[in-house]
Amino acid sequence: MRNRASAIQSEPMQKRKTWLPYGRQWIDEADIEAVTAVLKGDYLTTGPHIQQFEQKLANKVGAGYAVAFSNGTAALHAACYAAGIGPGDEVITSPITFAASANCVLYQQGIPVFADIDEQTYSIDPVQVTALITSKTKAIIPVDFTGQPADLRELIQIAKQHGLVVIEDAAHALGANYEGQPIGSISDMTMFSLHPVKQITAGEGGIITTNNKAYYEKLLEFRSHGIVRDPAKWCNEAASSGWYYEMQSLGFNYRLTDMQAALAASQLTKLDRFVELRKGYAAQYNAAFSQIPAIKTPFQQKSRQSSWHLYVIQLELEFLSVDRNQVYAELIAENIGVQVHYIPVYLHPYYQELGYAKGQCPKAEKLYERMLTLPLFPSMTSADVQDVIAAVYRVIRKYAC
Ligand SMILES: *Cc1c(COP(=O)(O)O)cnc(C)c1O
Repeated sequence: MRNRASAIQSEPMQKRKTWLPYGRQWIDEADIEAVTAVLKGDYLTTGPHIQQFEQKLANKVGAGYAVAFSNGTAALHAACYAAGIGPGDEVITSPITFAASANCVLYQQGIPVFADIDEQTYSIDPVQVTALITSKTKAIIPVDFTGQPADLRELIQIAKQHGLVVIEDAAHALGANYEGQPIGSISDMTMFSLHPVKQITAGEGGIITTNNKAYYEKLLEFRSHGIVRDPAKWCNEAASSGWYYEMQSLGFNYRLTDMQAALAASQLTKLDRFVELRKGYAAQYNAAFSQIPAIKTPFQQKSRQSSWHLYVIQLELEFLSVDRNQVYAELIAENIGVQVHYIPVYLHPYYQELGYAKGQCPKAEKLYERMLTLPLFPSMTSADVQDVIAAVYRVIRKYAC
Protein backbone atom coordinates (compact mmCIF):
# COMPACT_ATOMS: atom_id res chain seq x y z
CA MET A 1 0.00 0.00 0.00
CA ARG A 2 2.88 2.34 0.74
CA ASN A 3 3.77 2.29 -2.95
CA ARG A 4 0.31 3.25 -4.09
CA ALA A 5 -0.01 5.93 -1.46
CA SER A 6 3.26 7.51 -2.53
CA ALA A 7 2.07 7.44 -6.13
CA ILE A 8 -0.07 10.45 -5.23
CA GLN A 9 1.42 13.25 -7.29
CA SER A 10 3.14 16.19 -5.74
CA GLU A 11 0.84 18.96 -4.60
CA PRO A 12 1.25 22.41 -3.06
CA MET A 13 2.55 22.05 0.48
CA GLN A 14 0.78 25.14 1.71
CA LYS A 15 -2.38 24.87 3.71
CA ARG A 16 -5.40 26.86 2.58
CA LYS A 17 -5.50 30.37 4.08
CA THR A 18 -9.25 30.83 4.39
CA TRP A 19 -12.00 28.57 5.70
CA LEU A 20 -13.89 26.58 3.08
CA PRO A 21 -17.34 25.51 4.36
CA TYR A 22 -18.91 22.20 3.27
CA GLY A 23 -21.84 24.03 1.74
CA ARG A 24 -23.25 27.49 1.31
CA GLN A 25 -25.86 29.47 -0.61
CA TRP A 26 -25.28 31.43 -3.81
CA ILE A 27 -27.23 34.70 -3.81
CA ASP A 28 -26.94 37.06 -6.79
CA GLU A 29 -28.30 40.52 -7.60
CA ALA A 30 -31.44 39.11 -9.22
CA ASP A 31 -32.25 37.29 -5.95
CA ILE A 32 -31.74 40.48 -3.94
CA GLU A 33 -33.97 42.46 -6.32
CA ALA A 34 -36.69 39.81 -6.10
CA VAL A 35 -36.75 40.08 -2.30
CA THR A 36 -36.58 43.88 -2.13
CA ALA A 37 -39.45 44.16 -4.63
CA VAL A 38 -41.64 42.20 -2.19
CA LEU A 39 -40.51 44.39 0.71
CA LYS A 40 -41.77 47.45 -1.18
CA GLY A 41 -45.12 45.82 -2.00
CA ASP A 42 -48.34 45.04 -0.15
CA TYR A 43 -47.80 41.52 1.14
CA LEU A 44 -44.94 40.32 3.29
CA THR A 45 -46.53 36.94 3.92
CA THR A 46 -49.00 34.83 1.91
CA GLY A 47 -49.13 37.10 -1.11
CA PRO A 48 -48.95 36.26 -4.81
CA HIS A 49 -45.40 34.90 -4.69
CA ILE A 50 -46.36 31.82 -2.69
CA GLN A 51 -48.62 30.42 -5.40
CA GLN A 52 -46.29 31.54 -8.16
CA PHE A 53 -43.39 29.70 -6.57
CA GLU A 54 -45.51 26.60 -5.89
CA GLN A 55 -46.65 26.56 -9.52
CA LYS A 56 -43.11 27.01 -10.87
CA LEU A 57 -41.67 24.28 -8.69
CA ALA A 58 -44.53 21.88 -9.50
CA ASN A 59 -43.94 22.51 -13.22
CA LYS A 60 -40.20 22.05 -12.84
CA VAL A 61 -40.55 18.59 -11.28
CA GLY A 62 -43.67 17.55 -13.19
CA ALA A 63 -46.02 17.36 -10.20
CA GLY A 64 -49.71 18.27 -10.14
CA TYR A 65 -49.56 20.24 -6.89
CA ALA A 66 -47.05 21.88 -4.56
CA VAL A 67 -47.50 23.40 -1.10
CA ALA A 68 -44.77 25.60 0.41
CA PHE A 69 -44.00 25.55 4.14
CA SER A 70 -41.91 27.54 6.59
CA ASN A 71 -39.21 24.85 6.52
CA GLY A 72 -38.62 21.31 5.33
CA THR A 73 -39.29 19.83 8.76
CA ALA A 74 -42.74 21.49 8.91
CA ALA A 75 -43.36 20.15 5.40
CA LEU A 76 -42.53 16.60 6.54
CA HIS A 77 -44.82 17.03 9.54
CA ALA A 78 -47.63 18.14 7.24
CA ALA A 79 -47.02 15.16 4.93
CA CYS A 80 -47.28 12.77 7.90
CA TYR A 81 -50.55 14.45 8.86
CA ALA A 82 -51.90 14.24 5.31
CA ALA A 83 -50.89 10.57 5.13
CA GLY A 84 -52.99 9.96 8.22
CA ILE A 85 -50.13 9.01 10.54
CA GLY A 86 -51.51 8.85 14.09
CA PRO A 87 -50.73 7.42 17.54
CA GLY A 88 -48.99 4.05 17.37
CA ASP A 89 -48.63 3.99 13.58
CA GLU A 90 -45.27 2.74 12.37
CA VAL A 91 -43.31 4.53 9.67
CA ILE A 92 -40.14 3.05 8.19
CA THR A 93 -37.25 5.40 7.43
CA SER A 94 -33.47 5.55 7.15
CA PRO A 95 -31.04 5.90 10.06
CA ILE A 96 -28.56 7.76 7.81
CA THR A 97 -30.42 11.05 7.63
CA PHE A 98 -31.09 14.29 9.44
CA ALA A 99 -33.25 13.75 12.56
CA ALA A 100 -36.23 15.53 10.95
CA SER A 101 -36.96 12.49 8.71
CA ALA A 102 -37.94 10.55 11.84
CA ASN A 103 -38.99 13.41 14.15
CA CYS A 104 -41.92 14.19 11.85
CA VAL A 105 -43.36 10.77 12.72
CA LEU A 106 -43.00 11.45 16.46
CA TYR A 107 -44.83 14.79 16.04
CA GLN A 108 -47.88 12.72 15.02
CA GLN A 109 -47.36 10.24 17.92
CA GLY A 110 -46.25 7.64 15.39
CA ILE A 111 -43.32 5.26 15.79
CA PRO A 112 -40.25 5.64 13.55
CA VAL A 113 -38.78 2.27 12.54
CA PHE A 114 -35.26 2.28 11.12
CA ALA A 115 -34.37 0.02 8.20
CA ASP A 116 -30.71 -0.66 7.54
CA ILE A 117 -29.04 0.78 4.46
CA ASP A 118 -27.67 -0.70 1.28
CA GLU A 119 -23.86 -0.74 1.57
CA GLN A 120 -23.39 0.70 -1.92
CA THR A 121 -25.92 3.52 -2.10
CA TYR A 122 -26.36 4.29 1.63
CA SER A 123 -30.15 4.46 1.12
CA ILE A 124 -32.64 2.12 2.85
CA ASP A 125 -32.48 -1.44 1.55
CA PRO A 126 -35.92 -2.57 0.25
CA VAL A 127 -35.26 -6.09 1.62
CA GLN A 128 -34.78 -4.65 5.12
CA VAL A 129 -37.91 -2.51 4.69
CA THR A 130 -40.05 -5.53 3.80
CA ALA A 131 -38.78 -7.44 6.84
CA LEU A 132 -39.92 -4.61 9.14
CA ILE A 133 -43.51 -4.28 7.90
CA THR A 134 -46.20 -5.10 10.49
CA SER A 135 -49.96 -4.57 10.67
CA LYS A 136 -49.21 -1.14 12.17
CA THR A 137 -46.99 0.08 9.32
CA LYS A 138 -48.58 3.06 7.54
CA ALA A 139 -45.84 4.71 5.52
CA ILE A 140 -42.25 4.62 4.26
CA ILE A 141 -40.03 7.72 4.29
CA PRO A 142 -37.11 6.98 1.96
CA VAL A 143 -34.31 9.54 1.95
CA ASP A 144 -32.55 10.47 -1.30
CA PHE A 145 -29.26 10.62 0.55
CA THR A 146 -26.66 13.04 -0.92
CA GLY A 147 -29.07 13.71 -3.83
CA GLN A 148 -29.01 10.20 -5.29
CA PRO A 149 -32.59 8.88 -5.44
CA ALA A 150 -33.40 5.90 -3.21
CA ASP A 151 -34.67 2.58 -4.66
CA LEU A 152 -38.02 4.16 -5.51
CA ARG A 153 -39.29 1.48 -7.90
CA GLU A 154 -38.85 -1.30 -5.33
CA LEU A 155 -40.10 0.81 -2.41
CA ILE A 156 -43.23 1.97 -4.24
CA GLN A 157 -43.92 -1.65 -5.23
CA ILE A 158 -43.64 -2.72 -1.57
CA ALA A 159 -45.87 0.19 -0.52
CA LYS A 160 -48.55 -0.81 -3.06
CA GLN A 161 -48.51 -4.42 -1.83
CA HIS A 162 -49.04 -3.34 1.78
CA GLY A 163 -51.19 -0.23 1.32
CA LEU A 164 -48.51 2.18 2.57
CA VAL A 165 -47.95 5.84 1.72
CA VAL A 166 -44.51 6.83 0.38
CA ILE A 167 -43.29 10.21 1.65
CA GLU A 168 -39.98 10.83 -0.06
CA ASP A 169 -37.49 12.96 1.87
CA ALA A 170 -35.85 14.66 -1.09
CA ALA A 171 -34.30 17.46 0.97
CA HIS A 172 -31.06 16.69 -0.91
CA ALA A 173 -32.53 15.84 -4.28
CA LEU A 174 -34.13 18.83 -6.01
CA GLY A 175 -32.89 18.54 -9.60
CA ALA A 176 -32.21 14.79 -9.42
CA ASN A 177 -33.95 12.18 -11.51
CA TYR A 178 -34.78 8.48 -11.40
CA GLU A 179 -34.96 6.47 -14.62
CA GLY A 180 -35.33 9.76 -16.46
CA GLN A 181 -38.21 11.00 -14.29
CA PRO A 182 -37.67 14.08 -12.13
CA ILE A 183 -37.72 13.63 -8.36
CA GLY A 184 -40.90 15.26 -7.11
CA SER A 185 -43.24 13.49 -9.51
CA ILE A 186 -42.82 9.88 -8.37
CA SER A 187 -43.76 9.25 -4.73
CA ASP A 188 -47.16 9.97 -3.09
CA MET A 189 -45.60 13.07 -1.56
CA THR A 190 -42.07 14.46 -1.95
CA MET A 191 -40.41 16.98 0.35
CA PHE A 192 -37.74 19.48 -0.70
CA SER A 193 -35.92 21.72 1.79
CA LEU A 194 -34.97 25.32 1.03
CA HIS A 195 -32.32 25.61 3.76
CA PRO A 196 -29.22 27.57 2.61
CA VAL A 197 -27.00 24.50 2.12
CA LYS A 198 -29.60 22.76 -0.06
CA GLN A 199 -29.91 22.99 -3.87
CA ILE A 200 -31.83 26.29 -3.79
CA THR A 201 -32.74 28.42 -0.78
CA ALA A 202 -35.39 30.66 0.75
CA GLY A 203 -33.37 31.21 3.95
CA GLU A 204 -35.71 28.73 5.60
CA GLY A 205 -38.39 26.91 3.68
CA GLY A 206 -39.74 23.61 2.49
CA ILE A 207 -42.21 22.32 -0.06
CA ILE A 208 -44.26 19.19 -0.69
CA THR A 209 -45.13 18.06 -4.21
CA THR A 210 -47.90 15.57 -4.92
CA ASN A 211 -50.26 14.44 -7.67
CA ASN A 212 -53.01 13.67 -5.15
CA LYS A 213 -55.70 16.35 -4.71
CA ALA A 214 -56.85 15.04 -1.33
CA TYR A 215 -53.30 15.28 0.07
CA TYR A 216 -52.97 18.72 -1.48
CA GLU A 217 -56.05 20.01 0.34
CA LYS A 218 -54.97 18.52 3.66
CA LEU A 219 -51.51 20.06 3.31
CA LEU A 220 -53.01 23.51 2.69
CA GLU A 221 -55.27 23.20 5.71
CA PHE A 222 -52.50 21.97 8.00
CA ARG A 223 -50.23 24.85 6.96
CA SER A 224 -52.68 27.43 8.27
CA HIS A 225 -54.24 26.35 11.59
CA GLY A 226 -56.65 23.82 10.08
CA ILE A 227 -58.74 26.71 8.79
CA VAL A 228 -61.12 26.16 5.87
CA ARG A 229 -62.17 29.21 3.81
CA ASP A 230 -64.08 27.48 1.01
CA PRO A 231 -67.86 27.87 1.80
CA ALA A 232 -68.58 24.60 -0.04
CA LYS A 233 -66.62 22.75 2.65
CA TRP A 234 -68.00 24.40 5.78
CA CYS A 235 -69.77 22.37 8.48
CA ASN A 236 -72.08 25.30 9.22
CA GLU A 237 -74.03 25.50 5.99
CA ALA A 238 -76.01 28.54 7.08
CA ALA A 239 -72.86 30.60 7.57
CA SER A 240 -72.60 33.75 5.53
CA SER A 241 -69.49 34.25 3.49
CA GLY A 242 -67.40 37.33 4.18
CA TRP A 243 -65.60 37.36 7.50
CA TYR A 244 -66.58 33.79 8.34
CA TYR A 245 -64.14 30.84 8.29
CA GLU A 246 -63.98 27.50 10.06
CA MET A 247 -61.19 25.75 11.90
CA GLN A 248 -61.95 22.09 11.26
CA SER A 249 -58.73 20.40 12.36
CA LEU A 250 -55.73 21.21 14.53
CA GLY A 251 -53.24 22.78 12.15
CA PHE A 252 -50.20 24.96 12.65
CA ASN A 253 -48.82 28.24 11.38
CA TYR A 254 -46.30 26.71 8.97
CA ARG A 255 -46.52 29.41 6.31
CA LEU A 256 -43.64 30.65 4.17
CA THR A 257 -43.39 34.44 3.75
CA ASP A 258 -43.81 36.12 0.38
CA MET A 259 -40.24 37.45 0.58
CA GLN A 260 -38.94 33.91 0.94
CA ALA A 261 -41.13 32.63 -1.89
CA ALA A 262 -39.80 35.37 -4.18
CA LEU A 263 -36.23 34.39 -3.26
CA ALA A 264 -36.94 30.71 -3.85
CA ALA A 265 -38.56 31.40 -7.24
CA SER A 266 -35.53 33.46 -8.29
CA GLN A 267 -33.20 30.69 -7.12
CA LEU A 268 -35.22 28.06 -8.99
CA THR A 269 -34.28 29.66 -12.34
CA LYS A 270 -30.66 28.72 -11.53
CA LEU A 271 -31.25 25.17 -10.36
CA ASP A 272 -30.00 23.42 -13.52
CA ARG A 273 -26.79 25.44 -13.52
CA PHE A 274 -26.23 24.80 -9.81
CA VAL A 275 -26.66 21.05 -10.30
CA GLU A 276 -24.28 21.05 -13.30
CA LEU A 277 -21.60 22.85 -11.26
CA ARG A 278 -21.98 20.41 -8.37
CA LYS A 279 -21.74 17.50 -10.77
CA GLY A 280 -18.56 18.90 -12.33
CA TYR A 281 -16.85 19.32 -8.96
CA ALA A 282 -17.94 15.84 -7.89
CA ALA A 283 -16.36 14.48 -11.08
CA GLN A 284 -13.09 16.24 -10.17
CA TYR A 285 -13.18 14.59 -6.75
CA ASN A 286 -13.97 11.19 -8.27
CA ALA A 287 -11.03 11.45 -10.66
CA ALA A 288 -8.67 12.49 -7.87
CA PHE A 289 -9.68 9.84 -5.36
CA SER A 290 -10.68 6.78 -7.37
CA GLN A 291 -7.15 5.29 -7.30
CA ILE A 292 -6.56 5.78 -3.58
CA PRO A 293 -7.07 2.57 -1.61
CA ALA A 294 -7.97 4.41 1.61
CA ILE A 295 -10.86 6.26 -0.04
CA LYS A 296 -14.12 4.85 -1.36
CA THR A 297 -15.77 7.37 -3.71
CA PRO A 298 -19.58 7.60 -3.86
CA PHE A 299 -21.21 4.77 -5.81
CA GLN A 300 -23.74 5.96 -8.38
CA GLN A 301 -26.57 3.89 -9.87
CA LYS A 302 -26.64 4.20 -13.67
CA SER A 303 -30.41 4.66 -13.74
CA ARG A 304 -30.24 7.73 -11.49
CA GLN A 305 -28.91 11.26 -11.86
CA SER A 306 -27.86 12.67 -8.51
CA SER A 307 -28.28 16.35 -7.73
CA TRP A 308 -24.99 16.10 -5.79
CA HIS A 309 -26.06 17.82 -2.59
CA LEU A 310 -23.23 16.14 -0.67
CA TYR A 311 -19.95 14.50 -1.65
CA VAL A 312 -19.48 11.71 0.91
CA ILE A 313 -16.37 9.55 0.94
CA GLN A 314 -15.89 6.42 2.99
CA LEU A 315 -12.48 5.91 4.58
CA GLU A 316 -11.21 2.37 4.16
CA LEU A 317 -9.76 2.24 7.67
CA GLU A 318 -7.84 -0.97 6.89
CA PHE A 319 -5.48 1.22 4.85
CA LEU A 320 -5.06 3.92 7.49
CA SER A 321 -3.28 4.00 10.84
CA VAL A 322 -5.77 6.49 12.30
CA ASP A 323 -9.56 6.70 12.57
CA ARG A 324 -12.04 8.99 10.83
CA ASN A 325 -12.02 11.49 13.68
CA GLN A 326 -8.28 12.07 13.27
CA VAL A 327 -8.66 12.57 9.51
CA TYR A 328 -11.55 14.94 10.22
CA ALA A 329 -9.52 16.97 12.74
CA GLU A 330 -6.53 17.29 10.40
CA LEU A 331 -8.67 18.45 7.49
CA ILE A 332 -10.38 21.02 9.73
CA ALA A 333 -6.87 22.21 10.72
CA GLU A 334 -6.22 22.60 6.96
CA ASN A 335 -9.22 24.98 6.76
CA ILE A 336 -11.27 22.39 4.89
CA GLY A 337 -14.82 22.34 6.26
CA VAL A 338 -15.42 18.61 6.33
CA GLN A 339 -18.53 17.23 8.03
CA VAL A 340 -20.15 13.96 9.01
CA HIS A 341 -23.60 13.23 7.52
CA TYR A 342 -25.09 11.69 9.56
CA ILE A 343 -25.04 10.34 13.09
CA PRO A 344 -27.54 7.43 12.80
CA VAL A 345 -30.75 9.01 14.08
CA TYR A 346 -31.53 6.35 16.68
CA LEU A 347 -28.11 6.83 18.34
CA HIS A 348 -29.08 10.33 19.49
CA PRO A 349 -29.73 10.47 23.25
CA TYR A 350 -33.42 11.32 22.73
CA TYR A 351 -33.97 8.16 20.67
CA GLN A 352 -31.87 6.06 23.04
CA GLU A 353 -34.20 7.27 25.85
CA LEU A 354 -37.15 6.08 23.78
CA GLY A 355 -35.58 2.61 23.78
CA TYR A 356 -33.92 2.32 20.37
CA ALA A 357 -30.97 -0.03 20.75
CA LYS A 358 -27.45 0.41 19.43
CA GLY A 359 -26.63 -2.29 16.89
CA GLN A 360 -30.01 -2.43 15.15
CA CYS A 361 -28.66 -1.18 11.81
CA PRO A 362 -25.08 -2.51 11.70
CA LYS A 363 -24.37 -1.33 8.15
CA ALA A 364 -25.43 2.22 9.01
CA GLU A 365 -23.31 2.20 12.17
CA LYS A 366 -20.28 0.90 10.29
CA LEU A 367 -20.69 3.58 7.64
CA TYR A 368 -21.02 6.24 10.34
CA GLU A 369 -17.54 5.37 11.67
CA ARG A 370 -16.02 5.82 8.22
CA MET A 371 -17.83 8.59 6.42
CA LEU A 372 -16.68 12.11 5.72
CA THR A 373 -18.41 14.86 3.71
CA LEU A 374 -16.13 17.05 1.59
CA PRO A 375 -17.05 20.64 0.63
CA LEU A 376 -19.37 20.82 -2.38
CA PHE A 377 -21.46 23.80 -3.44
CA PRO A 378 -22.03 25.61 -6.74
CA SER A 379 -20.26 28.86 -5.84
CA MET A 380 -16.98 27.15 -4.99
CA THR A 381 -14.23 27.24 -7.61
CA SER A 382 -12.03 24.61 -9.23
CA ALA A 383 -9.18 26.08 -7.15
CA ASP A 384 -11.21 25.35 -4.00
CA VAL A 385 -11.71 21.78 -5.19
CA GLN A 386 -7.94 21.49 -5.79
CA ASP A 387 -7.30 22.75 -2.24
CA VAL A 388 -9.56 20.02 -0.86
CA ILE A 389 -7.88 17.35 -2.98
CA ALA A 390 -4.40 18.49 -1.94
CA ALA A 391 -5.33 18.54 1.75
CA VAL A 392 -6.93 15.09 1.57
CA TYR A 393 -3.83 13.73 -0.20
CA ARG A 394 -1.56 15.18 2.49
CA VAL A 395 -3.55 13.69 5.35
CA ILE A 396 -4.06 10.30 3.69
CA ARG A 397 -0.38 10.04 2.72
CA LYS A 398 0.65 10.82 6.29
CA TYR A 399 -1.38 7.89 7.66
CA ALA A 400 -1.40 5.37 4.81
CA CYS A 401 -0.32 1.93 5.91
C1 LIG B 1 -32.35 19.60 5.56
C2 LIG B 1 -33.04 18.32 5.78
C3 LIG B 1 -34.33 18.21 6.34
C4 LIG B 1 -35.05 19.35 7.00
O1 LIG B 1 -35.16 20.47 6.27
P1 LIG B 1 -35.24 21.91 7.01
O2 LIG B 1 -35.69 22.78 5.88
O3 LIG B 1 -33.88 22.22 7.51
O4 LIG B 1 -36.25 21.82 8.09
C5 LIG B 1 -34.93 16.97 6.37
N1 LIG B 1 -34.31 15.88 5.91
C6 LIG B 1 -33.07 15.93 5.40
C7 LIG B 1 -32.44 14.67 4.89
C8 LIG B 1 -32.39 17.15 5.32
O5 LIG B 1 -31.14 17.18 4.85
